[in-house]
Amino acid sequence: MKKEYVLGIDLGGTNIRGAAVGAKGNIWEILILPTETVRGRKQVVGNLSRLIKALRRKITPKENNLLGVGIGAAGGILQREGIISQSPNISPLDGFRLREHLEKEFRLPVFLENDANCGALGEKWVGAGRGVNDLGLITLGTGVGGGLILGGKLLRGIDGTAGEIGHTTINSEGPECLCGSRGCLEVYSSATAIVRRLKEEVSRGEKTQLVGRQGRRLDRITSKDIHQAALAGDRLSRRLFREMGRYLGIGIANLINILNLEMVVIGGGVSGAWELFMPTMKKEVRKRAFRVPARRVKILKSRLGVNAGLLGAASLVWQGAVE
Ligand SMILES: [Zn+2]
Repeated sequence: MKKEYVLGIDLGGTNIRGAAVGAKGNIWEILILPTETVRGRKQVVGNLSRLIKALRRKITPKENNLLGVGIGAAGGILQREGIISQSPNISPLDGFRLREHLEKEFRLPVFLENDANCGALGEKWVGAGRGVNDLGLITLGTGVGGGLILGGKLLRGIDGTAGEIGHTTINSEGPECLCGSRGCLEVYSSATAIVRRLKEEVSRGEKTQLVGRQGRRLDRITSKDIHQAALAGDRLSRRLFREMGRYLGIGIANLINILNLEMVVIGGGVSGAWELFMPTMKKEVRKRAFRVPARRVKILKSRLGVNAGLLGAASLVWQGAVE
């Protein structure tokens, strides 16, 4: 008998990461292609098709049976229609019937879901949140994404936009956010926010080893540089991570008081600086959330890292195949 597998794909603004995934969340094969967003819709969709074909070729079709394709995409998803409604990072696909297009091309069931929602599903399936039914995922990257699983099910909301923790207001007078609001969690706890805060502090005359005679030019500094500098003892960089953790703690406290979650998983590139922001984050949660849920909640670093999204996308196909 042929072995069954599915494809899980993480469609981001820079790269498309795809994997062949077995029934227990075991990854057979991973492939990465550039998204090439600047070259337009045809190219992006073409790259997606190429990735699917390449993975199929690698997993010998004679011995294995592909059940379907799950895609987690950065942006708002009209889940029932299979459309990316709005994505700042993959804008050529805005409004495109991606699911229908791929189902026709490959004659396979295709599932489309928001990437942070997929991350939450992935962590629940085979990551830090295994067996946890009330779980929140927060991804700290260029922006701040969020996904919620309540009572074992993904919370989508009426328009499929639920779980946008990054765009809850932390400070009503805070800096403007790309979403049109201001003072969102995203403007305090994303990679972009950490870089912006460093620039603000330097322009106010604060000293850092990152800028100066041996340092780099201010406009080239990334959050990773600030992370490295903090590890090397740079006081300003360390303070910025403590500050970012405090804001993140405010966001998590709000989440806990509303939803009484059992677990909050923190993923995304910035979660690599866990040791630097975790103490102030946890302190703030204890300070602000109700005592009983604040004591109970487990706040953990993502276990699946960059593969959380594609594994969650794959889990959608396995669920669909069973249902
Ligand atoms: Zn916002």
